[in-house]
Amino acid sequence: MTHPVLTALGLSDNESGTYLGNGEWSKTRDAGVLEPVNPADGEVIARVQASSQADYDTIVERAQAAFKVWRTTPAPRRGEAVRLCADALREHKDALGSLVALEMGKSKPEGDGEVQEMIDIGEFAVGLSRQLYGLTMHSERPGHRMYEQWHPIGLVGIISAFNFPVAVWAWNAFVAAACGDICIWKPSPKTPLSAIASMKICNEALKKGGFPDIFFLFNDAGTDLAQAFVDDRRIGLVSFTGSTKVGRHVGERVARRMGRSLLELGGNNAMIVDETADLKLAIPAIVFGAVGTAGQRCTSTRRVFIHESIFDDVLAKLVTAYGQVEKKIGDPTDPANLMGPLNSSNAVDAYLDAIEKAKAAGGTVASGGKALSDRKGNFVLPTIITGLDNKSEVVQTETFAPILYVMKYSKLEDAIAMQNDVPQGLSSAIFTTNLKAAEAFLSATGSDCGIANVNIGTSGAEIGGAFGGEKETGGGRESGSDAWRAYMRRQTNTINYSDALPLAQGIKFDL
Ligand code: NAD
Repeated sequence: MTHPVLTALGLSDNESGTYLGNGEWSKTRDAGVLEPVNPADGEVIARVQASSQADYDTIVERAQAAFKVWRTTPAPRRGEAVRLCADALREHKDALGSLVALEMGKSKPEGDGEVQEMIDIGEFAVGLSRQLYGLTMHSERPGHRMYEQWHPIGLVGIISAFNFPVAVWAWNAFVAAACGDICIWKPSPKTPLSAIASMKICNEALKKGGFPDIFFLFNDAGTDLAQAFVDDRRIGLVSFTGSTKVGRHVGERVARRMGRSLLELGGNNAMIVDETADLKLAIPAIVFGAVGTAGQRCTSTRRVFIHESIFDDVLAKLVTAYGQVEKKIGDPTDPANLMGPLNSSNAVDAYLDAIEKAKAAGGTVASGGKALSDRKGNFVLPTIITGLDNKSEVVQTETFAPILYVMKYSKLEDAIAMQNDVPQGLSSAIFTTNLKAAEAFLSATGSDCGIANVNIGTSGAEIGGAFGGEKETGGGRESGSDAWRAYMRRQTNTINYSDALPLAQGIKFDL
């Protein structure tokens, strides 16, 4: 029987994973099948027919044709198209949020929150469509004018991770659409249904509004098509969100063909709690940061550095709070639960493996530390580990699970140095009421991450800022601020309205 969450979104239990444009979903039935699983009970939710090479070729040809029209559509009109998508998502927020919770395994409020993020970035992109500003410059030559303008890149390829199955697409697609690009999306094979539902909602809204196709979708049964996509010279920008391992490969391949890539990769995010911190704020921030989405956010809190004078007290409070969370682990579609399952049984294995490595390195499990094998699904206990050195291999590695390494420090500069001493550089936070400590943390000698917060946790970024991180997180920036520039090409224009032809730098070239 078709799952009621699918029925609410007009999806069947055997869907095509390929949107070809012109209102057409591919009829390909021999390119493999994806079977997304409900992580809470291990049951297949529905079958999704993967895309063929021929489907991919059709998509790219149609996307190229669509770009010729879209790039000449005035940007504010492009913003109107995005506005219609955001409105349609608002109408379907409850159903799409439930599907995200069902397929990815995050809690229902977090699933709804993800759809809200799509709506928010849509509205941001509407305003942006009137603000794609370039600069004017003063020419060194008389009778000359210089300025720069921003043109769309063309085709933007979006490869997304399982843990934000819809928001990451919207962050990219809505901004890119306002910029005049056409987007082709390859979602995670673990969450194709959320992608299909998002495409149907947005494409229906575009059609009703009289807009052409600007969003395309394909699903890959393996990685051959994804690889071809990355290597395809027709894709001007590849925006990749996923692990550092795959992202490194993607970045290298795109660089080899001199394409552009935008990389949003793994994090190893830390929080510093100093001796002046307001623990009423710090404790819930740590717990939400580490346990929210069962530790499967790129911005999840994985390390906490606590000042030695309050270490025992904070640890005891954390252990008590974890005990409360343990009582609310279960079906993520039930809003009463605070923590759902891990997305796959492989993730459970990685969780158990990391705990064993931590113990072998001298760590002590202060809370949690086991999988819940008494029930179906990929449930684990949120875990706190103490007694490890920041340099130990397991602490240096992003394990995509709710494991928190709690460490002690005595001097702030040591805490900042340890925080920065990992390969990743995504999100960071300090809890303090000491102005000097807060400013030191935010200064050039402070956090080396793309995101640095004071008295706010590491996860749960707002769309208004540019999102991304340094080092092995990939250096990309998406979402707000001026991240739109990644989706456009800059052109510098110099116009001579004089009767002479003076050369720059005063060079003489008399014929
Ligand atoms: P993953 O790297 O396993 O997969 C990401 C995507 O890459 C999927 O769509 C996958 O099918 C695709 N892929 C796999 N091999 C490929 C290839 N050879 N060529 C092209 N594409 C290929 O990551 P995941 O397990 O889905 O997601 C979890 C990871 O994503 C974590 O490391 C997390 O930190 C990271 N993440 C980062 C951000 C961010 O904004 N920095 C956001 C979300 C997730």
